[in-house]
Amino acid sequence: MPSPRVQPFTFSVGPVTASPEALVALSAPIGYDYDPVYLDTYERTLAKVGELFQSAGDIVLMQGEALLGLEAAARGLVRPGTEVLNLVNGTYARLYGELLRALGARVHEIDAPDDDAIDPADVARALEQHAGIEVVAVVHCDSTAACNPIAEIGPLARSHGAVTIVDAVPTLGGMELKVDEWQLDVCVSAAHKCIGATPGLALMTVSDAAWARIEANPAAPRRSYLSLLDWRAAWFGQRRFPHTTACSLVLSLEAACDAVLREGLDASIARHALAARAARAGFRAAGLEIWARDGVQANTITAVRMPDGVTDESLRARMRGAYGVVMHRTPDSRQFRIGHMGMTASSLYPLVAVGAAVQSLSDLGVDVDVGAATAAVLAELAAADQAEAVGRSGA
Ligand SMILES: *Cc1c(COP(=O)(O)O)cnc(C)c1O
Repeated sequence: MPSPRVQPFTFSVGPVTASPEALVALSAPIGYDYDPVYLDTYERTLAKVGELFQSAGDIVLMQGEALLGLEAAARGLVRPGTEVLNLVNGTYARLYGELLRALGARVHEIDAPDDDAIDPADVARALEQHAGIEVVAVVHCDSTAACNPIAEIGPLARSHGAVTIVDAVPTLGGMELKVDEWQLDVCVSAAHKCIGATPGLALMTVSDAAWARIEANPAAPRRSYLSLLDWRAAWFGQRRFPHTTACSLVLSLEAACDAVLREGLDASIARHALAARAARAGFRAAGLEIWARDGVQANTITAVRMPDGVTDESLRARMRGAYGVVMHRTPDSRQFRIGHMGMTASSLYPLVAVGAAVQSLSDLGVDVDVGAATAAVLAELAAADQAEAVGRSGA
């Protein structure tokens, strides 16, 4: 076992270093689900999650990782033969297409290059060509760190009469996401990414239009752990739970939401944007190439084209071994990825990530400029008014 005093810097794309507030809340005494105080806590937590999603609609917390929420959405909205438009520019969207097909959906796919965003004009054309499309599935920002224009895709889907399933797992709290204004129906995120809580809860919005479709779907799970309808009947009908809640995770989530809301959602998003900007400046100054094209890059993940002769395994092993820095495994051997989420999108974290990655590449024989990289990160950070951000979050 490693010494508990040796804590590596972790730049995964989730789970990430939790906020201190979230960790403290985990150690609170365990209460009974039906204690009125807990019921109030639960209701308050849903409201705070709704604030982060910028949605006044129903919020469901499913008890598992985010993929549970994404699967529950698909099972609720799809029956054999349902026509679905799946927008693909990365690994998660590709996997979602497989799930949809396994459920018997007739899946139409738009494939954008992995380093680019989906073009809304292509979505409009597909909806025109296939009048029977009932569901549009889209990932806000896939593994490639290229973000899709869901602000435009939501209204296109709604005007067609389709409902959207949006994977916003790595973006809630770190990028602009306006569920109601953008007319998104089921939007799924997680506690363990930019919000800075622990893995174990899927955070979901469900619009009235989505509820109506799920209710009308004979194939939607009922009396099942995967059932959104069970949550609806229990919580929204009777202020009950379909099964015991993960109360510690809920308390921790509330504390994490409080921390983000105290900082301010806009300030949190700006902080993530700054971290990503600094990292991109650093990698570019090193002589490396950012994976996603300019204009579509995420605040919360930076993907970099892997230099020839280096593998993801060798790079991660060198970073971990020599510098105590952990980087995310990549699903695509042509790139390496660094997360900027929650705590790791603050202070000098971007300098640590870029410094360790670029120095490790140099150690592995790649011709990169470590000094220029670290100077560029610091210059980008210095240009921002961090004193103000620090003052605000400590208030
Ligand atoms: C992290 C992530 C998920 C789900 O992640 P889990 O950690 O498995 O819950 C889903 N979609 C995207 C785009 C993600 O980045």
